[in-house]
Amino acid sequence: MTETKIAVVTGAARGIGAATARRLAQEGFAVAVCDLDEAACAETVQAIEDGGGRALAVGVDVSDTAQVTAAFEKIVAELGRPQVLVNNAGILRDNLLFKMTDDDWDAVMDVHLRGAFLMSRAAQKHMTEMGWGRIVNLSSVSALGNRGQANYSAAKAGLQGFTKTLAIELGRFGVTVNAIAPGFIVTEMTAATAARMGTDFEEFQKAAAQQIPVRRVGRPEDIAGTVAFLVGEDASFISGQVIYVAGGPRG
Ligand code: NAP
Repeated sequence: MTETKIAVVTGAARGIGAATARRLAQEGFAVAVCDLDEAACAETVQAIEDGGGRALAVGVDVSDTAQVTAAFEKIVAELGRPQVLVNNAGILRDNLLFKMTDDDWDAVMDVHLRGAFLMSRAAQKHMTEMGWGRIVNLSSVSALGNRGQANYSAAKAGLQGFTKTLAIELGRFGVTVNAIAPGFIVTEMTAATAARMGTDFEEFQKAAAQQIPVRRVGRPEDIAGTVAFLVGEDASFISGQVIYVAGGPRG
């Protein structure tokens, strides 16, 4: 890269988002580390700065239009116009359909779908004007269906359609749009699922690994590496795709 490019990563205080922010910084990007709580971004920002990179903590609820607008104003003013957006922020509100509340449904749709929509709409303005951009959306193997996740699987399948449509609309402006569908990745999200099921997290991981063809669970770095590939020049002819990163066809 001749000049520093700017990447925006949501949900980057921890887990997959934090690993992705760190990896993109290693690749030479200045990174806007976005999460609900700005203070929670400090650890990721520090790790990037310790590695000689540049990062900015941005507190933003991705499902709130005004906050998204303010976040992009801050990013553009302090880092510059973004060329890369990783829509990673996510929540779970698992329940079987008959117990799922309106709020369980709306909260998941708001963060995953509305959040990716608002962030992408704000980012594409800069990308299309600059004639180069990369958007990566975090889907999930749950898009194929998963008991107790009617809301989450609908949102993650929705993100696949969203990805393909943005790829069609934005390709002519030099912007590619792809999705990654992770399988089981060790983060606080999967730890919370184990806790909710009353299972020890280590045992939960061992059991999950037995069901995965490569016989191990995933690490946030597995996803960060795929993001790094998709935002790089080697992936410039890949758009509208969903890459399952799950140790097998669907984890
Ligand atoms: P995580 O550890 O729970 O991290 C998610 C981050 O997103 C948290 O820091 C959370 O902040 C933030 N966030 C939640 N709502 C937000 C909002 N409205 N605005 C901004 N930030 C928000 O999750 P993860 O496991 O790294 O997952 C990252 C992404 O990968 C998610 O989209 C998830 O659905 C997807 N994914 C994960 C797995 C897996 O096995 N872990 C598998 C497939 C897909 P708070 O801490 O403040 O809530």
